[in-house]
Amino acid sequence: MQRYLLLPGPTPLPDEVLAAGARQMINHRGPEFGRILAEMLGAARRVFMTRHPVLPFTASGTGGLEAAIANLCSPGDTVVAVCSGWFGDRFADIAEAFGAQVLRVAVPWGEAVDPEAVREALRVAPGARAVLVTHSETSTGVRNDVAAIAAIVRQTPALLVVDAVSSLGAIELRADEWGVDVVVTGSQKALMAPPGLTLVSVSERAWAASETARLPRYYWSFARMRKDLKDGEAFTPFTPAIGVIYALHAGLRRLEAEGIARVFARHRRVARAVRAGVRALGLRPVARDEDASEALTAVWMPDGLDAKALLDRLRVEHGVVMAGGQGPMAGRVFRFGHLGYVSDEAVLAGLGALEAVLPRIGGPAARGAEDAAREILATAPA
Ligand SMILES: *Cc1c(COP(=O)(O)O)cnc(C)c1O
Repeated sequence: MQRYLLLPGPTPLPDEVLAAGARQMINHRGPEFGRILAEMLGAARRVFMTRHPVLPFTASGTGGLEAAIANLCSPGDTVVAVCSGWFGDRFADIAEAFGAQVLRVAVPWGEAVDPEAVREALRVAPGARAVLVTHSETSTGVRNDVAAIAAIVRQTPALLVVDAVSSLGAIELRADEWGVDVVVTGSQKALMAPPGLTLVSVSERAWAASETARLPRYYWSFARMRKDLKDGEAFTPFTPAIGVIYALHAGLRRLEAEGIARVFARHRRVARAVRAGVRALGLRPVARDEDASEALTAVWMPDGLDAKALLDRLRVEHGVVMAGGQGPMAGRVFRFGHLGYVSDEAVLAGLGALEAVLPRIGGPAARGAEDAAREILATAPA
């Protein structure tokens, strides 16, 4: 039984996205598809807040991260990687797998990186090709300050590459204005589409770097992907995930109809409500409020209790699906996703289910989670 999908991806889909994704196949080199893809990419550029091309690769988000490394780096390049959780580590691991010398800026899990630590790393490695940062660290629910990091990286020749898989469309990220060179996202998080597409924006500096970088690439080639992406009619070099493109076209249209500023405000409001709700139950979010991601909330389990027992009961008894912890946080945290097409009803149901299940597994018997959340939902702008 699953009534409420409260994962940090994949996220539930609006009806019109489901319907769009179910449409009949068409020729992926024909005019109808060419127009849909061009429209989808135009909308994506507005959500990325960039004038530069956004490239659609058929892959999960990790494919986009790999594409960034393969196109920007040469063997032996130094890369600075901010490691503030599972996904920061993954990005560093990808760079290492491709032969980069990775200088890891290690940040304790649950904290945001101090932008000054990035400045220091670039002082130690002045020739670094790129800085890799996770915007919303989905393992801990922490948001790194990409604007502040960008201001530092821009004073050096390094490229700034941001994993925005769980933030793009949930949390403000002004790619061009802030000077972010490459932004990577996935279709299945805040963009309200099924998994299967990764989108990668590429600045002029990053294009220039990709033309001289020497790592091998074929499927992931930025240049090959860009060749037939035109504004009115766009095609991909290989057969795209047509159904996912239909769906993402509908998801982005919905985001734009709502208005991107309102989308961000909605995420802030729901995130605050979730944090108030879990605190009312005597639980503690992992992230401090000032650097909490608005896409999800990771919450410490009460001492001595395993998250698995909680998650199983939430699912079986309440139809509420949340995520467990990763790496060193496995078993010790649960993660409450509240990004994309998340309704107040689903968030309140998630909090109500937590309130009901916690005492039954030996946790606190506090009440009032839904009321605490409702109070915020009622006051903050919808
Ligand atoms: C979901 C996610 C990814 C990508 O995961 P895939 O399973 O490859 O789509 C990467 N980074 C972050 C921060 C994520 O939340």
